[in-house]
Amino acid sequence: MYDVASRNRALELLAQGLTVAEVSRRTQISRWAIRDWQLRADQGMPVAPARSCPRCGSQPTSLAPEDKYAYLLGLYLGDGCISPVGDPAKRIWSLRIFCADKYPGLQTECADAIRAIRPDNKVRFLPLGGCTEINSHSKHWPCMFPQHGPGKKHTRKITLDGWQQELVERFTKPFVRGLIHSDGSRSTNRVRHATETGDRWYEYPRYFFTNESADITQLFTDALDRLGIAWRHSNRNNISVARRDAVARLDGFVGPKY
Ligand SMILES: [Zn+2]
Repeated sequence: MYDVASRNRALELLAQGLTVAEVSRRTQISRWAIRDWQLRADQGMPVAPARSCPRCGSQPTSLAPEDKYAYLLGLYLGDGCISPVGDPAKRIWSLRIFCADKYPGLQTECADAIRAIRPDNKVRFLPLGGCTEINSHSKHWPCMFPQHGPGKKHTRKITLDGWQQELVERFTKPFVRGLIHSDGSRSTNRVRHATETGDRWYEYPRYFFTNESADITQLFTDALDRLGIAWRHSNRNNISVARRDAVARLDGFVGPKY
């Protein structure tokens, strides 16, 4: 948590031409917090006190940086949940995202996205055997992810709030990237063709997205439609992207899990 004086000092140093990294070194303020303030200042938005919430303040704003939020929203809808921590009277919530250990790069990207939108909240890695829960505590996760509610996501209606819908329309690619990183995959299908000169093998990369919630699946296919990427239902809760041009488009901003 940083006070107003520290924040003003950081913005002053940025205005003098120092880089975010240099300001961070001099002030011991996290780079994430400085970037967040810088972004707000650049956009002419009030630089809110670090503790405040962009959603439940007197003038709710979208969540910045918006590309990181769109990505995190995709992760949350796929593999995340929000649950109470400790004494219920304190109303503290844990945002928990589950990432397989075979994709350390995704774990880092997830933690970076959480830090980017809540720079003052600690991010923890909780090993669960084969997968890791990446969590962060805040009173404001339900404001930032109003899809929060009791029970599994596929047993309740999932709709985006107006500000979220507007945001994912502007940041469709990071949203799709988050959804695929949580509930999707990119795999290679090997197909044998018998020819006169012997067998030939062809490889076709494909993307799949699997989610039990018809609402979340719809958000995914709506996003692909906005991007003009062809998809089809391979079964009730499974979407496949297999056309060569469509796979190439997704490879441009998603690619294999890492
Ligand atoms: Zn709030």
